[in-house]
Parts: sequence; structure tokens; C-alpha cells
Amino acid sequence: MLPPLPTTPPTSAETRLVYVLQHFRAAYADVPTVSIDYQDAQVQLTDGAGAFFSQTNPYPPEPQWREWQGRKLPFFFGPPADKPLLELLPNGRARIYADLISAAFYLLSGWQEYYSEARDRHGRFPFAASVQHRYGFVTVPVVNYYFDLLKTAVEHVTGRPCRPRRWAPEAPYAAFITHDIDNLRSAWKQPAKEALRQGKLLRFGRQLWQHFTQPDAWDNLEQVQQTVAGYGAKSTFFLLPEHRPAASGTPNADYRLTAPGLQGCLQSLAAQGSELAIHGSLGTATDARLLQTKRAQLPGHSIGNRFHYLSWEPRRTPSVLNQVGIAYDTTLGFAEHFGFRHSYCHPFRLFDFQHGQAHDFLEIPLNVMDATLYHPNYLQLAPDEILPALTPMLAEIERFGGVCTVLWHNENFDPANEHNGPRQFHALMEYLRSRHVAFVNGQDICSAVVGC
Ligand SMILES: [Zn+2]
Repeated sequence: MLPPLPTTPPTSAETRLVYVLQHFRAAYADVPTVSIDYQDAQVQLTDGAGAFFSQTNPYPPEPQWREWQGRKLPFFFGPPADKPLLELLPNGRARIYADLISAAFYLLSGWQEYYSEARDRHGRFPFAASVQHRYGFVTVPVVNYYFDLLKTAVEHVTGRPCRPRRWAPEAPYAAFITHDIDNLRSAWKQPAKEALRQGKLLRFGRQLWQHFTQPDAWDNLEQVQQTVAGYGAKSTFFLLPEHRPAASGTPNADYRLTAPGLQGCLQSLAAQGSELAIHGSLGTATDARLLQTKRAQLPGHSIGNRFHYLSWEPRRTPSVLNQVGIAYDTTLGFAEHFGFRHSYCHPFRLFDFQHGQAHDFLEIPLNVMDATLYHPNYLQLAPDEILPALTPMLAEIERFGGVCTVLWHNENFDPANEHNGPRQFHALMEYLRSRHVAFVNGQDICSAVVGC
């Protein structure tokens, strides 16, 4: 059962404009004061949305496809067929015939998920129901292209260049390397099960003996930290403070966060510069009290969250995060495909449909999850197809100076995993290092974006 839609006032053109320009101004280092509006402005836009935002339809009319910066892009509420995208006028004015503000608002705000009733068996908005899937642009940060067009108009009006934001001097973009810790004790289970199935009792016995006498191959947090540190990067660990499965039977952690050995390990990770944050267990995405209770079990003060199974109920989860005072969340990617769930490659603020303004917490969108790349329900890329598949998306983030958020579970640092394991992680990290990214964690991103 979906939470009912609250009765909210229609989202006015002015509200959309304020929300989108707030993000546009945060995307560049110094945007001069220029009037950008639908009427009597230096940069004048065409209102193309009609009555769309006073209704509750999750999907807008089919977009117009136009070329900008050598790329064909979908323009929702697009320009009339006989008009160009942009006209640079001689008297310090510019005219944009596409309703960039409404299109950017539609994608950034999360409108489609909020008003759609489509959910998968884990209660998530499915990739298959998205406009990114329908029109094939999940790996293109379309909103960044819209902003590039708007920036071109602003630069024409003022005669001054707008510089893109930088995460560190000389670094063209940033990478945020994260690990959800679901399992620390279960590496032995699959091989043991397999031995039993094949009737190889001696091998089964050896697996059991190893399990009881030796550390588990997935009990590897220090090794994960050292591997990541080898690239000059720092890990953010999302810890799951619930070892009981959900009522549906879906598992949470295979460990207890309060175990003394683990607490000592976490303190040592934090002392060596790792960030610790909460991996909200099943049910917490719609229950602020539960999330608050679970968060209190983490050592120190954690400011970030990612929900287990990428759980997210668009009509409720954002207000849960606000109530708990989470500074940043990094859940929002599609489990089924890498790319940009909100068509934007910078951290941003979701739209609060009830109050008509941006939410307080920062969303750092998730771009690459290990499980997406090789999983029976998601993609099934061969090991040597992974990096080539990701490279065009990474190049888009580089083009716009964004943040690439990577999720690689600790269990996929097990050398036994040859599909989406340590070798594929190394290939990705080598690539990122070769592009001179700034490796940042969630706290770094929050400090850099304050005021957005
Ligand atoms: Zn998880």
C-alpha cells in the first residue's frame, strides 16, 4: 500500500524557478546577477509546461530531441518546432525557447516517482517505469546540459565566463567511494552449500571447520580501507544496525553492530580517516523513530545515510531523513542500471512537494553499484565489459565537474568473486586515478556544498 498523496497546492512557475535557479547558481563558482524569468528578463524563457504542474500526472508529453554541445538531448516542455533552442540577441539579452526550468524541475525534484504508483517487490520505484528508461537517457546528466545552455545565455548577457565548481584545485571532478556493510560472516556459506549439494562431504566438513576456526573472508573492513587508501582515497562505510531479517524475510545484516570486536574495528577505521555512516535497515525508510533508534547505535556522530536495498518511498522517505536530521543521503541511483536517477551529476536537494521548497538534506546521487553490474535481476556484464560500459558515464561527470559515487560492498573484495569483485574495482579505481579526480567523502561534500 502506497502512502496517499497529500493534498498539495499546484507547483507554481515561480516556485519551480526559485528551486531550479538555486541549483544552477550552486553548479558554478560565480554566477553574476542576471534576471532569468519568463517575462521581461535579460535571459527570457518560454513557458512550455501549460497545466502539467497543477495536475498529478507522473509523465509529461514526449520530449523534443535537440542537439546541444554535440549531443542529442530530450527537452521536456520543449521548444516549438519552428524555434531554435537559444537566441543570443545583440542588446545584452538572450531568449531560450525551451522551458528548461520546468524540464529541470521535473527531473531534479523527483516528480515522476512521487506521482507514479509503480513500485517493485522491494517497494522501490522501478527503472522500467522511468522516463530515463523510456527515452534511453539514464547515463546522460540531462539537467547539467540544460544548465550549460542557461550558462551560455548568462555569459552572453554579462560578457563574463561562469566557471564550473571545483572540488579541489586541479581536479576536474570528484569520486566518493563507499561500502555498504551487509555481511561480515557469510563468505563460507555458498561454497559449503555447493559442496553439500554435490555430496562432497569432506569439502563440506573443511568449510565448516574453517568457518569455526578462521576469520571469514568477508570480515575484511581493514583490508577494504587499505585497498582504497592505496589510491589516495578514503572509504565511507555504511553500517547496518539490524541483524534480524525484515517481516518479509528479506535479510538485514549477518552481524551484530554492538559486538565488542566490531566496535573496536570501527573505532580503528575511524581513527585512520574512514567515515562511518548508517545503512538504514529495512523499514527505516518510512519510519523516522526507527531510523533514529538505529542511528544511535553507531559510534560517534554520523551524518550520512544510505538505505539497505536502496529502499526509498518517494512520498515519505525525504521527510523521514529531515526528521532524523540526516545531513546527506546517498541512496538515489537505480539498482537496475548505473547512471543518473535524477539526470544530474552534482549533489542536490530534492523538492519538498508539501511545503513547495527544497528539502534540507543533501542528496549525493549514487551512480555505480557493484551489484548492478552483475546480478540475475540487473545487468550481466562480463568482467572486461564493465569499465568500457561505465566510461561514457564517467566522462559526462568529468565534463560537468560532478561527483561520481561508487558503491562496492566489502564482500565483493573477496578474490573468489571474479565477476564484480576486487579486479573490477581496481580497474575502476585505476581509471579514476588516471583522470586525476579528487577523492572525497560525504563530510567533504557536505562542507563544500553548504549554502547550496
Ligand atoms: Zn545493504
